[in-house]
Amino acid sequence: MIDVHCHLDDFSFETDLEDVIRDAKARGVEKFVISALVDVGVERAFEITSRHPCAKLSVGAQPQSVSDGNYRDLLVKIEETLKRNGVVALGEVGLDRGREGGDITLQKKFFRECVRLADSNRLPLVVHSRGAGREAIELLLDERPNVPIDMHAFDGRASAAFEASKKGIMFSIPPSLIRSEQKRALVKRLPLTSLMLESDAPALGPEPDRRNVPSNLIITLKTIAHEKKLSAQEVADSTYKNSVSFFLGRL
Ligand SMILES: [Zn+2]
Repeated sequence: MIDVHCHLDDFSFETDLEDVIRDAKARGVEKFVISALVDVGVERAFEITSRHPCAKLSVGAQPQSVSDGNYRDLLVKIEETLKRNGVVALGEVGLDRGREGGDITLQKKFFRECVRLADSNRLPLVVHSRGAGREAIELLLDERPNVPIDMHAFDGRASAAFEASKKGIMFSIPPSLIRSEQKRALVKRLPLTSLMLESDAPALGPEPDRRNVPSNLIITLKTIAHEKKLSAQEVADSTYKNSVSFFLGRL
């Protein structure tokens, strides 16, 4: 399995990261893509990838953290960080209509610039879209970047996701699938060729209030297999292949 989206640089992994990685590998997770946020200490993420060849980076910023004050600075930081060794994608970037709020018009402007940046740098794009799935997809289809797109932990309607999948957009599914009707509907509706596995660790685990870890990918895998009436092996093979080609063979 490949964990296409996790936050192993999060402070909650500070004391036991080596155990967390070893445990994930023992359960079949071979590779990790750390979603590093340029405004939250990206150096720790680079330090992890330098010690672990099985880990690569995507770089971006949470949409709700974009403000008039840091807009330019964030964009410049993303653009500079993209060129560094070990970076295989741009993201997460996107739209967030969650509790923390933020200026959605500004978010859209920033997101659009990031989509163009991914396109001009030939980097796959990882999209965060809380409460704004359809809007994010509309913007993406309007921009039509010539790079692969992953809607990470998509929380929108299965019908909107299905339409997007017909345009080649991918969906990575976190272990919270096991407690989410919405994610189950998503997995049932989407073809296996559109699915990848992510942990989003330490968030979106099988239990809401417990730290999530990449070894929980096995839960996502088995739940997808159950929902789609396939074997776990079939789901593992297909999501692995999808992830390798999503990252343009650079993992
Ligand atoms: Zn994330």
